[in-house]
Amino acid sequence: MSQILNLLYPTRCPVCDRPLPLVGVREGFCETCYGKLHFVTKNRCMICGRGLADRGAEYCPDCAKYGKHYAYDRGLALCDYDEVMRNLIYRFKYEGRREYGEVFGRLMAKRLGKAVLRAGADGIIPVPVHPKRLHRRGYNQAKVLAKSFGDALDIPVYDRFVERCENTIPMKNLSPAERQKNLENAFKIGQNDVKLNVTIIMDDIYTTGATMNAMAGLLKAHGIKRVYFLTMAIGGEVF
Ligand SMILES: [Zn+2]
Ligand SMILES: [Zn+2]
Repeated sequence: MSQILNLLYPTRCPVCDRPLPLVGVREGFCETCYGKLHFVTKNRCMICGRGLADRGAEYCPDCAKYGKHYAYDRGLALCDYDEVMRNLIYRFKYEGRREYGEVFGRLMAKRLGKAVLRAGADGIIPVPVHPKRLHRRGYNQAKVLAKSFGDALDIPVYDRFVERCENTIPMKNLSPAERQKNLENAFKIGQNDVKLNVTIIMDDIYTTGATMNAMAGLLKAHGIKRVYFLTMAIGGEVF
């Protein structure tokens, strides 16, 4: 059955977007495409997990400045947000390549799973998308990632724990301070029948950290003790 489905809906390599070859596949990518991924190295920022150019540094410039005000505890990302990731995340979000999320969720479990298990996470919470956008796209990319990652490590996913509020102010018309305020009002707790202590927020990308902090602030205010995040990619310096 799965072979027939594969003929109808071939699984595509997230890097080149071609159906996967029969041989020479690595972790759901063509072997050569896998080699084009830039994994964040061991030399990471202690807070956001961004790769650091300076080997002696502990924090990236953003976290050195603002890190103590962050609501989340720590984060990890799989890859640097380079050209390869920019293109594939675009297809993942806007061109219906849902399967990319399954491939990346498994790869994140393989490469970052140990750290997540050590942290004792008892739930994964995907960043929710606005209902209108969800309707247009057909799926929430963060939820696809979270499910794939959670299945691989046997950690439950709570995709209704946080909901997106109806939010009509377009971000582009706002100042940075107003944007943060707007984001803080963008999420609400949607599920009260489960008690979580250590959670992982899952998203496709971390750029300024504003979304992550808004969600983590809400979760902490709700009594969750430790909040971590995981993303497929993390952007460079942003402030
Ligand atoms: Zn490929
Ligand atoms: Zn950092």
